[in-house]
Amino acid sequence: MIKSFEKNLDDLKFQIELGVSETISTKTREDKNKFDSLELNSTLEHDSNELSEIKTLNELQSFIENYDECELSHTARTTVFCDGNVESEIMLVGEAPGNQEDIEGKPFVGKSGQLLDKILETININRTNCYISNIIPWRPPGNRNPTTEEIGMCLPFIKKHIELVNPKILLLVGSISSKSILNKNLGITKLRGEWHIYKDGNVEIPALPIFHPAYLLRRPNNKSYVMRDILLFKRKIQDMKLL
Ligand code: URA
Repeated sequence: MIKSFEKNLDDLKFQIELGVSETISTKTREDKNKFDSLELNSTLEHDSNELSEIKTLNELQSFIENYDECELSHTARTTVFCDGNVESEIMLVGEAPGNQEDIEGKPFVGKSGQLLDKILETININRTNCYISNIIPWRPPGNRNPTTEEIGMCLPFIKKHIELVNPKILLLVGSISSKSILNKNLGITKLRGEWHIYKDGNVEIPALPIFHPAYLLRRPNNKSYVMRDILLFKRKIQDMKLL
């Protein structure tokens, strides 16, 4: 009894330290995410051809902003494309915008973004020295999980985005991002904690999946896994002399 009280207190302190005043009470994407299969890559053959013509991030951004075949683009207020430093060799890929991101047009600016910032701060990463985007550029209504079809539609965008940014290392934030970028049908609990390789053509980039901060807000007792993973990330960044 006392032990569990202490644990809860410890979890609360952790959240206060991280500057979060309220926990997220809705179910997280990790809880709800169920891919039956990961046949995501070929959904958008025609757009892949069009995408191959795109040579700059500005062109990619306007292509996505004008893309109206994905239903999510009709319900979202904004297209959330990126934040951070485009010169950085460190790229983070999240899942999809939430309400605050939809309002501001930037990834990870809501509660889970605040937590992500605090976690990254512990290894001296912030928006001046990393680049951030999402698998899905539009907020799914009510923050529901994107469907497999929506992920398949948007996957070519983030792949092109990675190609143009050309990072040396990837941090995959959350289950949906990790599974779809790595094309693996495994849960985040299986994927996190070790390095994977993101492959696209001849490009190979080391990629580390971590729990989504929204999941951590709901299940703060998993904080130690995230801190362990973020230290793995730090070590690799140091080894690769990226910061
Ligand atoms: N969660 C994400 O995965 N991305 C965001 O931009 C915001 C919340």
